[in-house]
Amino acid sequence: MPPPPPLPARAALLLDLDGTLIDIAPTPDSVVVPPDLPPVLRALRERLGGALAIVSGRPVETVEALLPDTATAIAGEHGGAVRHFPGAALDRVDLPELPDGWAEQGARAVAAHPGALFERKTRGFALHYRLAPQAREALEQAARAIVGAEATHRVMPGHMVWEVKPRGADKASAVEAIMSRPPFAGRVPVYLGDDVTDEDGFRAARALGGLGLRVQDIFGDAAGVRAWLAGLAG
Ligand SMILES: [Mg+2]
Repeated sequence: MPPPPPLPARAALLLDLDGTLIDIAPTPDSVVVPPDLPPVLRALRERLGGALAIVSGRPVETVEALLPDTATAIAGEHGGAVRHFPGAALDRVDLPELPDGWAEQGARAVAAHPGALFERKTRGFALHYRLAPQAREALEQAARAIVGAEATHRVMPGHMVWEVKPRGADKASAVEAIMSRPPFAGRVPVYLGDDVTDEDGFRAARALGGLGLRVQDIFGDAAGVRAWLAGLAG
């Protein structure tokens, strides 16, 4: 593995959550935040003049509950919602609602595979198969059958999960929204992520003259990212 590149001068850090800052757990609710992570993030936020953001597929409120008082900006739901600074109103992208009946169909598809997990999201849903790996193909087919030819939503692969998400927001639009405002504007975005949806974040960061760093290629895993961040925080 090549060593991580040095942080550019006047960098802004934009960090995915699951699989980047924290280890992936058997279920989304069972993740554990290492106790030394929040103080490292606070020290980095200070060092970067506040330019530290988290960009996640989870709801903004869930990220805040897991990592209170750490990032200045938090984007959730794959760019569907952004809180630009603590206490600000949630900036919601106007996205298509989940059509009637889709969530029920998703839940039914999962019920046929013991261990698989249905997760309702604000305008979509996720079919998790981490505890039912043999259900991978059946759940993909189910997700694609539910979405069908509907142009409002799409099926996205993730780590042991198929997600049905609305079109119109992604991690690229999240990066662009965050980087357009202080204290991020004028800084060089450095985006870290580990998943397919992070490719959009990499692309946006690079288009703004910054870096897109894939966790597996540069840091190995989330523990490697945390060690790197701790070193930067000093
Ligand atoms: Mg991730």
